[in-house]
Amino acid sequence: MRSPLGFLVDMDGVIYRGSELIPGAKQFIERLLEEQIPFLFLTNNSQRTRRDVAIKLVRMGIDVDEHHVFTCAMATARFLARQKPHGTAYVIGEGGLLQALHENGYAVVDRSPDYVVVGEARTITLEMLEHAVDLILGGAKLIGTNLDPNCPTQSGTRPGCGATLAYLETATGKKAFTLGKPSPVMLRIARKELGLTTSQTIMIGDTMETDILGAVQMGYRSVLVLSGGTRRSDLRNFAYCPGLVLDSVAELSDRTRDLEEIFPAPILRADDTPHDLQEWIAAHA
Ligand SMILES: [Mg+2]
Repeated sequence: MRSPLGFLVDMDGVIYRGSELIPGAKQFIERLLEEQIPFLFLTNNSQRTRRDVAIKLVRMGIDVDEHHVFTCAMATARFLARQKPHGTAYVIGEGGLLQALHENGYAVVDRSPDYVVVGEARTITLEMLEHAVDLILGGAKLIGTNLDPNCPTQSGTRPGCGATLAYLETATGKKAFTLGKPSPVMLRIARKELGLTTSQTIMIGDTMETDILGAVQMGYRSVLVLSGGTRRSDLRNFAYCPGLVLDSVAELSDRTRDLEEIFPAPILRADDTPHDLQEWIAAHA
């Protein structure tokens, strides 16, 4: 029997912080594996390939493989392959993005590209940015893997893909299109990858602007965990809210509580029109 629910799980701030596992995260993932509940790790970091990410998790003691990982670089490459099959791209980014583009039939070029594609990159030079500006003004379309303005590092903060995009947008007057969370493009591909319906999908994350906003826009159920960058008092700054707030995923690893009991199947799906009065009354009781 197929599981009636499945999870899209953010990693940084949910599973680990930097190189440290969050207590209970390993047990939560082990539970999902044992109970055959489908899940996919979603990351807005385009630097690493899905295999790189899987190895990082394995080394932390979480026994998953690359099929459990979906990155914004993958969402970007699949989107471009659909918009313009076998296109060309000038890339400001690293291995994860380059590999995803190649796997989706794209060629990486320096001259006359269809797109300028920007991801996380720690080796950007002013020459690369100048060249990108020329290409965009010459007609190449600007694509970003994600909008995150910065990324936390071991020693502090470094500028993220969103900052690079803002630079290029200001210089060219062109607006980028981005694919990572909270983009419906990434969240929809991820759900379909698991074979779930909208009402079966539950997003777990620590960031309101990406994880929770994305879930709210898609009609997925959402869980905000406070083990990352968001505090309970931050919720008042947002006009939307998560379905459930937990200290961490450790609260979902207690096997005496059934996950289906914590997340009962909604009788009425968000996208359903009720046809039965008794069903409607039961759902709203
Ligand atoms: Mg996070």
